[in-house]
Amino acid sequence: MSLIIITQGKDVSSWVKALKEKRPDLALSVYPDVPDAAAVEGAIVWNHPLGVFKEFPNLKWISSMGAGVDHVLKDPELPEAAVITRITDENLTNDMATFTLALVLNHLRGLSFYKVLEHQQTWKRKRYQRIEETTVGVMGTGVLGAAVARLLKQTGFNVNGWARTPKDLDGVKVYVGEKELSDFLSRTDVLVCLLPLTKETRNILNKRTLEQLPQEAFVINVARGEHLVEEDLIEMLDKGHLSGASLDVFRQEPLPQDHIFWKHPKINITPHIASVTDPNTAVNQVLDNYDRLQNMEQLLNVVSLTKGY
Ligand code: NAP
Repeated sequence: MSLIIITQGKDVSSWVKALKEKRPDLALSVYPDVPDAAAVEGAIVWNHPLGVFKEFPNLKWISSMGAGVDHVLKDPELPEAAVITRITDENLTNDMATFTLALVLNHLRGLSFYKVLEHQQTWKRKRYQRIEETTVGVMGTGVLGAAVARLLKQTGFNVNGWARTPKDLDGVKVYVGEKELSDFLSRTDVLVCLLPLTKETRNILNKRTLEQLPQEAFVINVARGEHLVEEDLIEMLDKGHLSGASLDVFRQEPLPQDHIFWKHPKINITPHIASVTDPNTAVNQVLDNYDRLQNMEQLLNVVSLTKGY
């Protein structure tokens, strides 16, 4: 049995190093350099070339290199027999929680706003909202969303969540499903999107949903660019309904040079950096699943093909 790493345009040397350090005898190849395609039973992937899996007739397991699996599931030629898993990792979770907290505080205390004024050598103060006066609504209270919600709650924010199924989440009220979405949105000063990208959640941040946020609400998208209808966000910002947005993810990455978001005064941009998988810790669960596969045991962090996450 061998493992293969399949990506496009990604430097995977740190993955190879971490896997080899922990398991020197591991049979590992990096696509497209494949000595024996028939021996490959597991693939570790990020943005693989669509259709590539049919080159591996005995593939049993596909592991995403990150928390998201939309890049895997969009392949129309997924092998039916393969189990798909993803990474859930303490570092990944903590990084997302602290980054989102930083974005919310940046908004509340206007740090980006003052950076612009600093460049203009302008002394101007604006009113600020306190933590305890602010309700943050976290869309998606899974591994990452729940950690974000907990940290914001500990920091003193009022926090609500929104998920597909009911949750008991440390004093955070979790609204459930389409029927409670309006109530959730209408109580949200700062909206954080941490949904997986599925056919139900694609374009979920649109004019109809953004309009239901209170006047002057702020939007943070740290999930996937395809959750957001870009022109609807611009319209809501330009007519003053929303006070601003912090975006870490985009429909096209890197964000094209001529994209309207770059110069929009109410949009803060970060380059998909909220939380990045650390191969040194992530390989432990990849190797754990590798052992489980060999021992014919249930794999960990299995993705539901029906739910799409
Ligand atoms: P997860 O554990 O699978 O959690 C997903 C959450 O979304 C769950 O609470 C789920 O509800 C909810 N959900 C899914 N579909 C829904 C729907 N139709 N309506 C309402 N709620 C819905 O995912 P995760 O590990 O937290 O990761 C979330 C996403 O973050 C990833 O998919 C990835 O795209 C993104 N991400 C971004 C970065 C970055 O650097 N920017 C890094 C890592 C991950 P239930 O709990 O009821 O199932």
